[in-house]
Amino acid sequence: MQPFSFSRVHNNREAINAITKENDAKFIGGGTNLVDLIKLGIENPKHIIDINALSLKQIENLPNGGVRIGALVRNSDLAYDETIRQRYPVLSQALLSGASPQLRNMATVGGNLLQRTRCPYFYDAVFPCNKRQPGSGCSAINGYNRSNAILGTSDHCIATHPSDMCVALTALDAIIHVQGVNGERAINITDFHLLPGQTPHIENILEKGDLITAVELPAMPFAQRSFYLKIRDRSSYEFALSSVAVALDVNGGTIGQARIALGGVGTKPWRNKEAEQALTGAAANRATYLSAADIAVKNARGYKYNNFKIELAKRTLVRALETTGGM
Ligand SMILES: Cc1cc2nc3c(=O)[nH]c(=O)nc-3n(C[C@H](O)[C@H](O)[C@H](O)COP(=O)(O)OP(=O)(O)OC[C@H]3O[C@@H](n4cnc5c(N)ncnc54)[C@H](O)[C@@H]3O)c2cc1C
Ligand code: SF4
Repeated sequence: MQPFSFSRVHNNREAINAITKENDAKFIGGGTNLVDLIKLGIENPKHIIDINALSLKQIENLPNGGVRIGALVRNSDLAYDETIRQRYPVLSQALLSGASPQLRNMATVGGNLLQRTRCPYFYDAVFPCNKRQPGSGCSAINGYNRSNAILGTSDHCIATHPSDMCVALTALDAIIHVQGVNGERAINITDFHLLPGQTPHIENILEKGDLITAVELPAMPFAQRSFYLKIRDRSSYEFALSSVAVALDVNGGTIGQARIALGGVGTKPWRNKEAEQALTGAAANRATYLSAADIAVKNARGYKYNNFKIELAKRTLVRALETTGGM
């Protein structure tokens, strides 16, 4: 582990100035991902800027009916917040399905958005990995790729995005608020994470100096009827093989609106609007869910050890839809 300096900032402007003036600096939130990456030598920042003293810890109801969540709200506090549990249960369930209570007590919303993949080759510096070392090759494509992605892959990287929270945020159409050297911007979560393409080391659209300040959940009354289903090798403390976040508006057996996002199978949290359209206006029954599931994975590409994920993703989606919308 290389030595680094450590400083603490007390307002957003100070944080942005501190990270902009250094060449190789990183913010630290809960540290549950960054510290592991530093210990393994995968990330080697020369300066660590502690943002925990910033005023980004509130969960506020907005006049437009939405909710604004500060970037430093801990995953546990968000999961157990009464507004979130009642109005956006899918988010609470997704958070509680991730990591362990101790990790959730530390992990922040901003850090969760930026957590890095769990592809085993990314964490093992013996193996080539385009994400860790651009241009070195991808060990997973022809290697043991059971945990890797089937949607959004490229010839350069097939790593899954690991976050459960982000899958729920994707179904909820969340907006990421960012403050940077040129002021503030609001980014839809579907535009926030990038596909690997030829540059898998570039994972999101943030620029140097950007501080995530908040996540906004738009008003979505039907999200009261929402659900997160996570399939994994053991029932806790494990990343998803396949997961689904669903919100459904069902009236008299007909689906009004639908939101679907898949996790554990995509190189980014995976929203499929075509599958949502197939549900909209259709009868809430198994036949409808099966055809939406076929659409959701129609562009999937399986690799030697993860081909099973195509069928698994379909079954996960159908079960989540049956649980949320009835049969
Ligand atoms: C053993 C283990 C099991 C886990 N299991 C799961 C799981 O099942 N599901 C799941 O979803 N997650 C899981 N996680 C991951 C966990 O959710 C993340 O580590 C956590 O959410 C990261 O948040 P943090 O605040 O600790 O981030 P940090 O480690 O502090 O930071 C992560 C990155 O975000 C940057 N950053 C942090 N805050 C900001 C900000 N406001 N603005 C700009 N940049 C920022 C940092 O510079 C760093 O690059 C697991 C982690 C571990 C260690
Ligand atoms: S899938 Fe991506 S993270 Fe995994 S080895 Fe290949 S390039 Fe690296």
